[in-house]
Amino acid sequence: MELAIKACASEMKAQLQGGSDSVAELFKSFQAAMASFKEIVDRARAAFQSGRTRSVEFRKQQLLQLKKMYEENRQVFLDAVHSDLRKPKLEAVLFETGFAEKDLDFLLTRVEDCLKPQEVASVMPQDKCFIYKDPFGVVLVMGAWNYPLQLSLIPAAGAIAAGNTVVIKPSEVAPATAAAIAKYLPKYLDRECFHVVCGGIPETTELLKQRFDYIFYTGSTGVGKIVRDAANKYLTPTTLELGGKCPCYVDQTADLDIAVRRILWGKLFNLGQTCIAPDYILCPKAIEGEFVAKAKQILKEWYGDNLEKNPDLSRIVAERHVDRLAGYLSSGKVVIGGKYDKKTKWVEPTLLVDVKEDSKVMQDEVFGPILPILNYENYQDAINFINKGEKPLAMYVFSKKQDIADAFLSQVSSGGVTINDCLHHAANPNLPFGGVGHSGMGAYHGEYTIDTFLHKKSVLVRNFDPVPEKMLAARYPPYTDEKLKLLSA
Ligand code: NAD
Repeated sequence: MELAIKACASEMKAQLQGGSDSVAELFKSFQAAMASFKEIVDRARAAFQSGRTRSVEFRKQQLLQLKKMYEENRQVFLDAVHSDLRKPKLEAVLFETGFAEKDLDFLLTRVEDCLKPQEVASVMPQDKCFIYKDPFGVVLVMGAWNYPLQLSLIPAAGAIAAGNTVVIKPSEVAPATAAAIAKYLPKYLDRECFHVVCGGIPETTELLKQRFDYIFYTGSTGVGKIVRDAANKYLTPTTLELGGKCPCYVDQTADLDIAVRRILWGKLFNLGQTCIAPDYILCPKAIEGEFVAKAKQILKEWYGDNLEKNPDLSRIVAERHVDRLAGYLSSGKVVIGGKYDKKTKWVEPTLLVDVKEDSKVMQDEVFGPILPILNYENYQDAINFINKGEKPLAMYVFSKKQDIADAFLSQVSSGGVTINDCLHHAANPNLPFGGVGHSGMGAYHGEYTIDTFLHKKSVLVRNFDPVPEKMLAARYPPYTDEKLKLLSA
């Protein structure tokens, strides 16, 4: 198995260096060399059934091995995400390697205790009641390409901490990172319990035919439905970390200089390819001009005159996404940016005004550096507009008015919210991260990363003591009013 993965990884590397961008070709060799998916899942299941993933020592040792993998190969992973997205080092450290390592450090503090049964109060005094924490079994983790390292490896680490065996399917759209995960993970982790499989849509379709005990999927809402359909066959529980349009409301009371900086930072991180990037702005017409002027000034201050050459901006992951983004430019009047180059996978940070609610850019998740601005004179209209769409993964409100922030919090259902900044609610391990409705189901990060992968089993332990048995006997037929009175007391 290790040899197969090694061969595949070097094959992928060679193809990448050779400039091949055919995902299908890239993974054909991978697929051919690997054991069948059924065999892989069978092995993971046998390893789970052997019971060894339940021991604290084993789980701790595997998590420490994962830590070692990051420590010894940090640069390899940084190079991989750079190759896939030209991700700047600061962004890659903060939201890929560093982010995954921090979550792992947290898991290590919890691994000792997370499977310990928790005693809870009983109804009958003679009973003992517990919540047992059971791993599900074989977990499938499917990652997305935009944060290709952490979106696969943070959930995988949580599943390991919780005592499951895991099959990891990194995104084929970020092939260098997928190859790095496939190459290094098996060198550090138990090869029967933890597997990496690679592939595009045909391979993933095959993989999803297997029976898993839990599926953790990150990606688009459309594919999330495919995953859920596949999971339904075996009633497999799923976490779906999906996307959608994340609204960003700004009003006159906000400190516009700070607000625009924070919004542009949240939007341009990974060149807008972040599931919780502010997707569009809702603001009164009166502040739109100032918003645009400040944005121009800040972009110049951060990136100079030649944004395309600036190393602090990532690239769009694939040419087809450049085409998709270019298709949004006619949805409004371009007041900043607007240039793109398919060959270099570049789309300039762009602001659009005079955008209609029903324009193309407002139908899809933008997932790129294009920021449409829509005008709302009062916050209630903005809330009503958001509520006409699907529930967002994240929402942002820039206002000094507490009652306005409260109105958004109480009237809009979204996965998460940051008030007066962007993205930050996703970076606190004490907060669950996930969507609601079309933006997803389930959550992770910190404590929740373990919790997701544990079934809470209710356990009541009763003895054969004859005294309580007398009272308990009241439940047996023949039923009488006297028994009902006794049992209802
Ligand atoms: P992607 O193309 O990498 O797909 C995600 C996973 O689904 C991959 O493992 C891929 O192989 C698999 N897949 C793709 N098409 C499939 C198909 N037809 N059948 C079976 N499997 C398939 O990523 P994407 O979907 O382009 O990701 C972008 C989306 O993900 C955006 O909507 C973004 O908002 C969302 N996202 C959400 C989060 C979150 O945490 N909620 C994080 C990142 C991205």
